[in-house]
Amino acid sequence: MTVLEVSRDLVCLCAGGIILDINSAGLAMLGAEGVDRVIGRSFCNLVGGDYAQVIDELLQLSEVEDSAIPVQVRRLGGDAFDAELQIFPARELGRGHAVVIVRDISRQGRLARTARESEDRFRVLVENSMHLIAQCHGGRVVYLNAAGKRMLGVAGQPGMAVAHMFHGQYREIFAMDPGLLLSEPGVMPVRLAHYDGSAFDAQILVTPLPSSGAVPEFMIEARDISGHLRAVAALRRMNETLESQVAERTRELAEERSRAVEARCFVESLLEAVPNPLWWKGVDGRFRGYNRAFREIHAIGPVEWIGRSSAETLPPSFIGPAMEADAKAMAGGGERVEYEALLAFADGRAHDVVVSKTAWRWRPEHPEGVIGVMLDISERKRMEAELRRLATTDALTGIFNRRHFMVTATVETERAQRHHRPLTGLMLDIDHFKRINDGFGHPVGDVAIKAMTAACLDVIRTIDPLGRLGGEEFAIVLPDTDLAAGLIVAERIRAAIGQIAIATEKGPVAFTVSIGAAQLNDSDASVESLLSRADAALYVAKNSGRNRVVAG
Ligand code: GH3
Ligand code: MG
Ligand code: MG
Repeated sequence: MTVLEVSRDLVCLCAGGIILDINSAGLAMLGAEGVDRVIGRSFCNLVGGDYAQVIDELLQLSEVEDSAIPVQVRRLGGDAFDAELQIFPARELGRGHAVVIVRDISRQGRLARTARESEDRFRVLVENSMHLIAQCHGGRVVYLNAAGKRMLGVAGQPGMAVAHMFHGQYREIFAMDPGLLLSEPGVMPVRLAHYDGSAFDAQILVTPLPSSGAVPEFMIEARDISGHLRAVAALRRMNETLESQVAERTRELAEERSRAVEARCFVESLLEAVPNPLWWKGVDGRFRGYNRAFREIHAIGPVEWIGRSSAETLPPSFIGPAMEADAKAMAGGGERVEYEALLAFADGRAHDVVVSKTAWRWRPEHPEGVIGVMLDISERKRMEAELRRLATTDALTGIFNRRHFMVTATVETERAQRHHRPLTGLMLDIDHFKRINDGFGHPVGDVAIKAMTAACLDVIRTIDPLGRLGGEEFAIVLPDTDLAAGLIVAERIRAAIGQIAIATEKGPVAFTVSIGAAQLNDSDASVESLLSRADAALYVAKNSGRNRVVAG
């Protein structure tokens, strides 16, 4: 049996299934300390499971099995290991003799299992990869993962030409020489083809696989980057749009800024051009700005009053009304606040002015200050006074005209009636006035009219209204004067006129006047009725020789 010692497998000699001898490798494999522990045992006792019966029959050599039989061999300690068993008949050694060889294959089994498991894991990884993975054998695809099938639109086509994965020129090139795929060591951008013929952009990586034969084996990994490219293109487009929008906005802002500068310049020029004084103040009542006309009336420089209040700048009598109007304008809802006042200008004269003030605001509810405009109405006031004077006075003599005399006389007669005071009216007419006009000329007649006016004014009180009713006809109302007193006044007038001598080229001209007098009575409904009685008296005076006073 020493020959059996050379084997590393368990080798034993059995007869009728009973172990006659065993080598030391076998003893070690079974965990037996000496041959005695094994010799004499039935071999099939060492074999577990379903095979025990088969092994026993084989050991009886009733049939011969050439190939190795997978079995589990039980160690003496109780545990078992995978093994391959071969039985060789050894009839030359005796009847029922056989040599049994047991090879421990538990290690190979473990390796195989591990290999199988890792391959399974690898398959799962490859199958579930997001990218296309194709295993190629020469010019053919022998495996395509799920992502690859999705990407190429192929429902699994092992055996398809590798070149068919590609589109256009790529397909032509790789159809001619699939080996070219292996010439590019890194990631390569290509166009792949859907099964329907359409193209998409991809990146591929080709990795050679270890192969035993002459046909090259390799793996193609592909990533669809059409979405990525679209995103990049969209990003680029968005960038370009953004850039053009920014450029557009920048140009708009520049335009807006230049328009704003232009508008500001225009407004400033406009304000300067306005002939009326114009100014604006903040809510604190301090000047923020004013125009040229304002500077001129106050004789100030462009910034002299800026930041200063009304109290610090304006003439004292003007401060109160100005501040009151400021407050009113800011409290109001945007309406104009106007007031008239007398304002001393820097020229030293007091001017009648109308000031108009308005609150200025960005938001409706929030006033920012007050804008003021001033109108110098001195000239208008003067004109108005002049017109008033012209409307009430007689141009030649400067005394009341007919209309205004009647108004004034009415006031006096009504007052006299109200207070039961006496009042006397006088009607006066120059005697033979035509003769003066005819004999000395119209201008001398005018002088006579003026001289008569002066004589009347000399005699009467300032409160006695004197009017020229027309031509050389006058009327006087004497308040608080009864007829007797009135006749005295009339007589004085008549006498004074008799004293007049107008110097002319033809010598001095004298003239007389006839006067009719009447006292107001309770039955007089108006001044007209009083004057018509006086006129009647005047008529009597004319007819009774002129140059006299007659009471009516
Ligand atoms: P009698 O004594 O009756 O009043 O005679 P008379 O000549 O004065 O007559 P009458 O009063 O009718 O004359 C008025 C004249 O006065 C007629 C007109 O030519 C003249 N006259 C009227 N207005 C003016 C005037 O403004 N200036 C001058 N110079 N003459 C006037
Ligand atoms: Mg007359
Ligand atoms: Mg007359």
